[in-house]
Amino acid sequence: MKEPIIKVTNLSHRYNAQWAIKDINFEFQEKGIYGLLGANGAGKSTLMNIICGVLNQSEGDVFINGINLREQPVVAKKHIGFLPQQPPLQLELTIKEYLQYCAGLRLMPENTIKAAVEEVMEKCQISHFAGRIIKNLSGGYQQRVGIAQSIIHKPDFIVLDEPTNGLDPNQILEVRSLIKDIATERTVLLSTHILQEVQALCDDIWMINEGQIIFSGSLDEFDNYIMPSTFTATL
Ligand code: ATP
Repeated sequence: MKEPIIKVTNLSHRYNAQWAIKDINFEFQEKGIYGLLGANGAGKSTLMNIICGVLNQSEGDVFINGINLREQPVVAKKHIGFLPQQPPLQLELTIKEYLQYCAGLRLMPENTIKAAVEEVMEKCQISHFAGRIIKNLSGGYQQRVGIAQSIIHKPDFIVLDEPTNGLDPNQILEVRSLIKDIATERTVLLSTHILQEVQALCDDIWMINEGQIIFSGSLDEFDNYIMPSTFTATL
């Protein structure tokens, strides 16, 4: 049987004595755009950071295409792309230089980097800005650059942590359109606190509240779900 693209088992994490996520279990078998919806502080970034191997969980396991991320991080990470939640990038590098640097960090063979950078710039519609300094770009273009670095090594699974946070309405539409486009070739897990975002983009939804998954299902099923009064996602 085919391994799930991602499988998370009994995943928990605490910062000091405080549990940020507790006993999370899910898996994706099919390609698609999956949404993790949760209010500020619900545990989204903690979960995303663990799934992408930038934070070590306190308990539980993450499997990417059947590979245990804790046991084989280098191999597992080849299958994952990650756009972390981040403030505007204050980088003095041009888009092209930054993407070349990211490709190097991903240990891509030297002779493949030039073509890969051109390809992702084309895909993310930033080729015309290749020589622009990143810190001078608008938020929308910075997110396109962020998405470009997340797919440069051609992962089959990417994680986008609040990808439209802080963008204006036009930029939000543009970034969502890009996400839909890149999701035709890979599976996407995105987090957001905006209900409209999952409605616009996602096939299935996981809802996280106080570190626990309280709903999982399709958008149709979600329409009939009665949210707990403590849940404060933007409607
Ligand atoms: P936001 O949308 O505001 O980023 P989130 O859903 O991504 O929220 P997390 O950032 O994962 O939530 O935070 C979950 C809980 O863990 C919160 O209570 C937060 O205060 C706490 N937390 C997160 N990072 C740390 C840290 N480095 N040290 C201590 N506590 C943390």
